This record gives sequence, C-alpha cells and structure tokens, in this order.
Amino acid sequence: MTRTFQLTPLDTNSAAELRQEGGTAYVADTHPGFPCRQCLRDADVGDELLLVSHDPFSTNSPYRSASPIFIHRHDCGAPITDVMPEQLTRRLLSVRAFNEDEIMIDAAVIDGADLEDTLARFLDNDETDHVHVHNAHRGCWATAVTRDPSCDDPTKTAAVQMQESELCHTVMAH
Ligand SMILES: [Zn+2]
Repeated sequence: MTRTFQLTPLDTNSAAELRQEGGTAYVADTHPGFPCRQCLRDADVGDELLLVSHDPFSTNSPYRSASPIFIHRHDCGAPITDVMPEQLTRRLLSVRAFNEDEIMIDAAVIDGADLEDTLARFLDNDETDHVHVHNAHRGCWATAVTRDPSCDDPTKTAAVQMQESELCHTVMAH
C-alpha cells in the first residue's frame, strides 16, 4: 500500500497524561457521536470517555490553541492509520495546512469524503509541513497529518521517484 501522507493522531503517552489530568466524563449514548482521538474510532454505545482539552502545537505560533477532544477513559490501543477512519470521512471537517513555523498557509471546510483529495492538494504544496484536521461544527481537533516519509526518500533515484510519483499522490483506502 502506498500513501502520500500519514495520520499522526494523539499518541499513547499524551493520551495517558490527559487521562491522568482528568476531564469531563461521558458515557457514549449514540454511535457515531463520540469520536476518540487516540484510537480514531467512534465509541460504541456504553463506552466510557473523557472530554479533555488538547493543544497539538509545539511552538508559540499565533495560531496556537487547545481544542476539545474525546478520548476513551481507558487506554484503547493503536489507532487505525492504514485506512482513512470513518470518524473522519463521515463528518464535515475543517482542514488547515501549516508551514514549519506553524503558520497557517491554507484552509478549507470540506465533506469528509473529500479529505484525501484535500490532503493531497495541501501536501502537494512544498511549503506545507503538516495539516490539522478538526470537526468543522464543534471544532474538536481530530488528527495531524504529515507526508509519508517513504515518498520523500532522497536516496531514491529520480527515475524511481518519477515512477512512484503517481502512486505517491494516491492514497489507497478501503
Ligand atoms: Zn479510543
């Protein structure tokens, strides 16, 4: 499977810290409706969650802000990253491209079904360092997205890169 980008959701250590700090407790009473940002699944009815505040920025960018996110109350393991998670594709999303100084250089509100096309377009811009995806309605941060390093391997010859460039602009998701 060849991908142009990789999802970089909340990592396990950060999720553990957020659980320790605590948040507002919820029990999912609908599905979908409670998207966990660690496992990138919508919680099943009856699942326990915490609503916490997460700041995904690493510099003092003027865009720096924390967003509300749901996480399962207990460690829920590795996220789905080999396919585009349904928690993204079935929602209205705000997609924001940032340069390496974490300055926003592009943004769009899209139907989640168009997420792959939008990511491909944003990451095609060399100035884009990474992308943040949020739920458009309530602003919950969903995941960061970066280029797949396997598509930017400088050790590959130009011919190989040329050959792969078609694939490197396509994400296979089923
Ligand atoms: Zn989870």
